[in-house]
Amino acid sequence: QERELMATSQLPATTTDGVRVELDGNIEFAEEVKSLLAHGGEGVGLYRTEFLYMGRSDLPTEEEHYRTYRQILEQLAPRPVTIRTFDLGGDKLPLGVRTHDDNPALGLRAVRYCLRHPDMFRTQLRGMLRASVHGHLRIMFPMVSGVNELRAAKRFLGEAREELRREGVETRLPPVGIMVELPSAAIIADRLARECDFFSIGTNDLIQYTMAIDRQNKDVAYLYRPLHLAVLRTLKLVCDAGRQAGIPVSMCGEMAGEPLFVLVLLGLGMTELSMNGGSIPLVKRIVRQASAADGQRLVGRLLELTAADEIEREVRSEMGLRF
Ligand code: PEP
Ligand code: MG
Repeated sequence: QERELMATSQLPATTTDGVRVELDGNIEFAEEVKSLLAHGGEGVGLYRTEFLYMGRSDLPTEEEHYRTYRQILEQLAPRPVTIRTFDLGGDKLPLGVRTHDDNPALGLRAVRYCLRHPDMFRTQLRGMLRASVHGHLRIMFPMVSGVNELRAAKRFLGEAREELRREGVETRLPPVGIMVELPSAAIIADRLARECDFFSIGTNDLIQYTMAIDRQNKDVAYLYRPLHLAVLRTLKLVCDAGRQAGIPVSMCGEMAGEPLFVLVLLGLGMTELSMNGGSIPLVKRIVRQASAADGQRLVGRLLELTAADEIEREVRSEMGLRF
């Protein structure tokens, strides 16, 4: 069965009613690209660049950023590679710049940290922009809470590009998107959609912040329910806002790689899912056997229910019937 899965993994993920879904991989290291392709991944939906900074006492240089990104872009070209600017801060900091944060999940991290440390941010952006001519780059900012951060981050990107132009370095202007992983961003997704080129929903953090549960804390893990009505409504808000603005909405949180949720995500209108490479073959098989219209009807029914248990039961029974 494993062999059969791997054989179909190279086919396109198209639903029975003709909706083409892009299945991408989440990576942390350039070395993962080969395995991603072997599992039928079509591109990189999330490259967590903070791993370039971890476990060392110095900071990566612009040259190191450039070489790493170029290597990944070239291996995948012309397929898209979504590089997320570093999501450092709180408990994830390079050895040299550790700070104290009473509440790391709510502290100075990700894009907030970048805006506070312009030199570090600029170094990474310059490395990315220099690599942009070697493939299909998309840039994504993590933990955006509102339009001010998005505008500020885009200003940095524009300035870095202008700097390089003056130095005579050719760059391409990549699509710029945001992780939608804070409730505030989801609530104003319609406004954010006017100012960026794509959304990628980070359910790991979005669920953490929506439910006010530490995603690492086992004692409250029982509250981590991707099908909680609050989460479902939030996902719908983001998908609808993206569709109305005409920008693609993808999902790169763990929820995207979970077979049980495939039909729900199709029903919400998601056309790109990014997950660990190993999850792609099974998710692809389900997408190829599913109908987006069935998904829409299912989501319509789920939104009429109330308790997460009821919603989960309905999804399980629908998935059990069909797959
Ligand atoms: C997420 O929050 O869902 C996500 C994909 O980002 P990370 O897991 O790196 O926080
Ligand atoms: Mg996150």
